[in-house]
Amino acid sequence: MQLTALRGVGEATLARLHSLGLRSVSDVLLHAPLRYENRTRLSMIERLQHGEDALVEGVIQSVDKGQKNRAQQTIWRASLADDSGVLNLWFFNPPPGVLAALVPGQAVRVFGTVKGGLVGFDMAHPELIRLPSPLATALTPVYPSVAGLSQTLLRRVVSEALSLWARDAQLLAEYLPTELLAAQGLGSLREAVLRLHQPSPHETGAEVARQRLLFEELLAQQLAMRRWKSGAENHQASPLPQQAALAQRLRAGLPYALTGAQARVLHEIAADMARPRPMRRLVQGDVGAGKTVVAALAACAALEAGQQVALMAPTELLAEQHQRNLTAWFAPLGVAVVALTGSLKGVARRKALEAVAQGHAGVVTGTHALFQEGVAFHELGLIVIDEQHRFGVQQRLALSEKGRQGERHPHQLVMTATPIPRTLAMTAYADLDVSVLDELPPGRTPVQTAAVPDSRRDEVMARLGTACRAGRQAYWVCTLIEESDKLEAKAAEEAHLSLTASLPDLRIGLVHGRMKPRDKDAIMQGFKAGELDILVATTVIEVGVDVPNASLMIIENAERLGLAQLHQLRGRVGRGSVESSCVLLFSPPLSAIAKERLAVMRESNDGFLIAEKDLELRGPGEFLGTQQTGLARMRFADLARDGDIIPQVREAADVLLRDHPQAVEPLIERWVGAGIELAKV
Ligand code: ADP
Ligand code: MG
Repeated sequence: MQLTALRGVGEATLARLHSLGLRSVSDVLLHAPLRYENRTRLSMIERLQHGEDALVEGVIQSVDKGQKNRAQQTIWRASLADDSGVLNLWFFNPPPGVLAALVPGQAVRVFGTVKGGLVGFDMAHPELIRLPSPLATALTPVYPSVAGLSQTLLRRVVSEALSLWARDAQLLAEYLPTELLAAQGLGSLREAVLRLHQPSPHETGAEVARQRLLFEELLAQQLAMRRWKSGAENHQASPLPQQAALAQRLRAGLPYALTGAQARVLHEIAADMARPRPMRRLVQGDVGAGKTVVAALAACAALEAGQQVALMAPTELLAEQHQRNLTAWFAPLGVAVVALTGSLKGVARRKALEAVAQGHAGVVTGTHALFQEGVAFHELGLIVIDEQHRFGVQQRLALSEKGRQGERHPHQLVMTATPIPRTLAMTAYADLDVSVLDELPPGRTPVQTAAVPDSRRDEVMARLGTACRAGRQAYWVCTLIEESDKLEAKAAEEAHLSLTASLPDLRIGLVHGRMKPRDKDAIMQGFKAGELDILVATTVIEVGVDVPNASLMIIENAERLGLAQLHQLRGRVGRGSVESSCVLLFSPPLSAIAKERLAVMRESNDGFLIAEKDLELRGPGEFLGTQQTGLARMRFADLARDGDIIPQVREAADVLLRDHPQAVEPLIERWVGAGIELAKV
């Protein structure tokens, strides 16, 4: 059922829900909370403790409107008293609803994090409601969200969906047979979903719910994979043996010789492509291992046979870089390279589409826009997917369908820097053969990494200035935990201003996700050409960006990032032969896990080891998005963590296919269907 069936969901909210991947009522019912807050118990002010999240009721005593802070927000302070003491509340630009309650004598309930203790307690921008209002009996979920979609609104949408569902069970039907659930020791879907959104504070209901849901999710994924594999067994492809001439000319133009690992992997690829079955090969190689040139050399076999090659990257920035590199390599050899990204419009887009359709374009680079409606290839021989972990399995499967011509499917080369755990190899990548690029190009020195508290920011800036005046180039990376382009861009703009003010003699550029692609590209080019000393950037540069001369990186709020992301980011330096360094700025106090993560980053540059540590640091039941692992996103399951249950999942898939085949399609549709839709847009 459509989301507009929910009361209170208008155009703007709808768009935001869509950008969270929520398209139907059942998607909303299956939107997994990140964590929970306990708002079922009131705390007395005198018993509060520094650092805890607390719920307090009291009466507003006094209200002061204060000054503006650096970010131009007006600060309000109010004191709140209960029978045991007084608590200071701080608000920055409070919304009208909160302002209206900030009146002496008003009884309110607040929820927030407690700070201080020696001379009274503070709570900064707590959530506030006027009394009387009933106390929650269940834990309060905190959902992944996007800018403009508050937790309050999201909670209301979920509870609307729950009440619709209570009236119409078909909105999210039970597909798993009772005996299968019993055999696995799992409860019903209804129970799990209710517990997911409204867990009782007295039991571990949320964890039980998650187990039930991730089991179903993995089962659906397994079924989709099997269905696709059984179809794929009969797929055909054009055999594309290496002719060597084109590849040799390309190699002759390179300023370096291939590493042993690159040569070996190319050999494996050539053997696959020479067969009349579609290649499905995953190349795993740590950041900086030199995957791009491997893809280009693999492309030669298809090009020589008169077929096309599509190279898909997860970000526009990376797609543009590929476009530039491949043009430099192939244009001199007489092969046209054409870009197709989402922002290409009008005549330019029409021309590009024509070149692709008529086969004038030998190589086509782009983002997932490559596979949009309206894109038709003349004869697609090879698909290369770069940084596969950013795409879901579903997208990969859908792409193969899109490139197919009659009975023939294109060969597929998939590249990733993320090591693949064994459990993953058995599921999400079950249909892929794996090659490992286990050798970095010669002359690289490991990146020296230091963790430095925010309080020493000025010192870091001063040192950065000295290094850049000595001819080095640096990235200054702004990160935010909220997945909001807009906020991230704002943080980067602020950092750019403050760096420009502190280091007026240096050339400092800025690049973020909300800039026009052409502007982004111009800045990146300028940085690459050495016309900029410092590039202030958001995490748009996280994957794939290659500027070998940049040898310094400063990452703000490093404590908030997962290990996989930190490793990817840091991989942007240490690509040339100069010794590189990376400074991880953090704001204390650090949680135990954050401390451990920063220590791992200081001690190691090895992607495999870092991935292992990443797993170790995340205990079961920790509500971290799967994004943290750098692997394609699932709603509940994290293959790295939940891999143990794969054998049961496979068994359940056998049972379902044998005894309940009618449940297979709806399950795939519920959990995997959306991904396939995504791959089409
Ligand atoms: P990856 O995509 O694996 O992270 P890239 O393909 O971006 O890595 O390559 C990283 C850098 O290494 C590039 O600057 C590239 O020119 C360089 N490079 C690739 N192969 C070699 C090689 N065999 N010898 C020296 N440098 C290489
Ligand atoms: Mg790359």
